[in-house]
Amino acid sequence: MNDSIEAETLGTSAAGALLGGAAGALWGAPRLGAAAGAVHGWMAGRRRVYERNRRGAAAFLLDHTWALPTTIASTVTLTVSEWRRRVGGVDPGFVDSLSRRSNRFVFRRGLVLRRGFALTVGTVVTGAGGADGEITERREQLVTRHEDVHVWQARLLGPLYPILYASWFIGGVLVAVAQRVTRPTNTALSDEIDRYAYYRNPFEWHAYTCDDNWPPPFTDAHGVWSKRFPLREWIPPMFRESSENRVGRR
Ligand SMILES: [Zn+2]
Repeated sequence: MNDSIEAETLGTSAAGALLGGAAGALWGAPRLGAAAGAVHGWMAGRRRVYERNRRGAAAFLLDHTWALPTTIASTVTLTVSEWRRRVGGVDPGFVDSLSRRSNRFVFRRGLVLRRGFALTVGTVVTGAGGADGEITERREQLVTRHEDVHVWQARLLGPLYPILYASWFIGGVLVAVAQRVTRPTNTALSDEIDRYAYYRNPFEWHAYTCDDNWPPPFTDAHGVWSKRFPLREWIPPMFRESSENRVGRR
């Protein structure tokens, strides 16, 4: 580690601890907030994750205050993958080119909910390499244009994001099951659940639209929202560094 990384790591862990502690105090958990903020800040500094501009500063500030609950979940994910790497010898494959100065941590492998799909928890994207662990051009675009949108959704909506996402998901499952009971069809129940809980979920609709991937491939276009999500620019102008709202950084 050279001096500049050490200075950055020291700075981000101290700032993370202070901000996390202050935000945690409002939730009645100052120690948890400070500890998660320190660990998350330390890992972010070591990996040089945050951009050194207004958008990076806004991302850091939001992640360690308003979005502290999802950042705590990110910290658990990062700690588990670090522990598995050091103790179990299982390398999650940190992707420096998609993480450094990109305001997110990207891993080739790690936790996924279904094969081939990446998963974003707060600032952490796992399974970016897909089923074979390869970062192809398409997988790279999935990270910069779809998963990155989830990172910002969580950052901007803070504690509301996991509640809203999970509520929609549960509601979607209930609607799919209720439809199955009242109007039996030949479609598999899992496809119906996918349609209502996942593809019609506004957060997914938004992310697929930003990835120019709506309607998603392999779905029945009549079973999902017919139009693209109306909002394309999701980072508020005050945090934006360029007019085209660029994501990703080589
Ligand atoms: Zn998604």
